[in-house]
Amino acid sequence: MYSKEMLSSTDLPYNEPEIDAVFLSHAHFDHVTHIQFLDPKIPIYVGVGTKLLMESLEETSGFCNYGEHECHKFRTKHKIIIDDITVEPVHVDHSIPAAYGFIIHTSEGSVVYTGDLRMHGPRKDLTEDFMEEAEDCEPIALICEGTRMVDVEKRKNYSEDQVKQLTDNVVSSTSQMVFAMRYSRDLDRFRSFYEVAKKNGRQIVISPKTAYLLSKLLDDEHLDLPDPLKDNCILVYYKRKKSGLFDERDYYPWERKFMNKMVTHDHVHKNQSKLLMDLDFYQFTELIDIKPKPGSQFVHSMSEPFSEEDIEDEVMRNWIDHFEIHFHQLHASGHMNKEQLVQAINHIQPKRVFPVHTENQQLFKKYCNNVQVLERETQYLL
Ligand SMILES: [Zn+2]
Repeated sequence: MYSKEMLSSTDLPYNEPEIDAVFLSHAHFDHVTHIQFLDPKIPIYVGVGTKLLMESLEETSGFCNYGEHECHKFRTKHKIIIDDITVEPVHVDHSIPAAYGFIIHTSEGSVVYTGDLRMHGPRKDLTEDFMEEAEDCEPIALICEGTRMVDVEKRKNYSEDQVKQLTDNVVSSTSQMVFAMRYSRDLDRFRSFYEVAKKNGRQIVISPKTAYLLSKLLDDEHLDLPDPLKDNCILVYYKRKKSGLFDERDYYPWERKFMNKMVTHDHVHKNQSKLLMDLDFYQFTELIDIKPKPGSQFVHSMSEPFSEEDIEDEVMRNWIDHFEIHFHQLHASGHMNKEQLVQAINHIQPKRVFPVHTENQQLFKKYCNNVQVLERETQYLL
């Protein structure tokens, strides 16, 4: 399955691919990045929105290249025939747009793969659609994600609605600057912050990268996201680069498109009470120029660190303490928790369960029947 190019620096021999197609569930890095290793002779199948997310990454990141595959786009409930099997993608709610699970119809019965999914997001109806289809096909196998299949969850998780409400509490009770940090392609979170800003008479300040992604996703009418060039609530933050004079030539061609929505550190400094600004980890140095007033607010809307020795977390805390900014941890996960997973599996009632995307396969056994704990390089016949 590997491309010649990827194998060239190994001692593995190249073989013609024996795989007819690869289906991609969604554009998170732990899924999509593997595409770059694939032999370009293997066609790939992706959701319409996922293709836009992939293009946006290739165009703006400088390190993504998914290769020249024959690429087929699907929408929910399309039926795609590959030899003897039919693959049916069904939309699910996850922390990135255009996420899918798959129902694979074979002569021996149906195999269901969940992809990554959740029940507490703004589009839980999508996951419910998937569950219904999965149950109806009486699957002989369920390949199930288990990111949050853990004994005790230490990290606090809200629903997307709670994140929005609690962020609104922060914003509505301050006249200072509000910063927010989120996963760049979590557009449900973007929408939550955008709506909170609007409700409180503030404008939202985003990076050129986010503006580019939003303008790209306008091509998918199902996503219903605002147009950064037309929406008065959206401003685009330009860092000083090269000449330091905010000259058009200082920026990549894809960044230039939004320059008439440009604000700089100076504008942000002067309008602290009227803005809600996206601030990612690599933008903390901008605080030196923005000079936020002490008592500004910071909403950390990502997972809490996995360990107490997390270097990035320490660096972030140092920046925040230095500028005397108040810290709030408000995040909704992209995944079902243990109770929801167990409920979903027992509801679908598959003949066999194959846990994937988890550190805790054994725990599935404790709560569900017919669980097959997977071992490396072992084949399982259905
Ligand atoms: Zn994911």
